[in-house]
Amino acid sequence: MVTDRSEARIAEIYDLLETVMDPGMPILSIVDLGMVRSVEAEPATVVTLTPTYIGCAATVDIVNRVRTTLCESGFGPVRVEIRHAPPWSSDWVSERGRALMRAGGIAPPPARGCGPSSPACPACGGARVDEISAHGASPCMSLWRCLDCKEPFGAFKCH
Ligand SMILES: [Zn+2]
Repeated sequence: MVTDRSEARIAEIYDLLETVMDPGMPILSIVDLGMVRSVEAEPATVVTLTPTYIGCAATVDIVNRVRTTLCESGFGPVRVEIRHAPPWSSDWVSERGRALMRAGGIAPPPARGCGPSSPACPACGGARVDEISAHGASPCMSLWRCLDCKEPFGAFKCH
């Protein structure tokens, strides 16, 4: 049963989850990355997460930090459930998450679907780019260089 009280608690839990950063990309929270599938507040706190792909995020670390963060704010005991189906998609990255990536000099994944298109340069917006390496700073990024401003940049892989 969803009551006004549980709705308010759910909103508070989401606010707290926005402070849990992704270990692979510490400028983004697990909410920004679209990893939080659902939150229940009553009768117990249950958070359902879909991790980004293996190597991109240390799932155990995230689960521990979700538990600690919520317990410290009085929402314990906390159950964290991991759901792998459907698999996480880069389509789930929020608008805020995309803006944070751009501000951090990272090209976000395309908003809808994975096409053959190249990322735009996050520094100058240029479309003339070259892929330097399929493996960037983390397994979820590839490395590119802009042919206009010559800046190298990471792009979040689409999947
Ligand atoms: Zn550029």
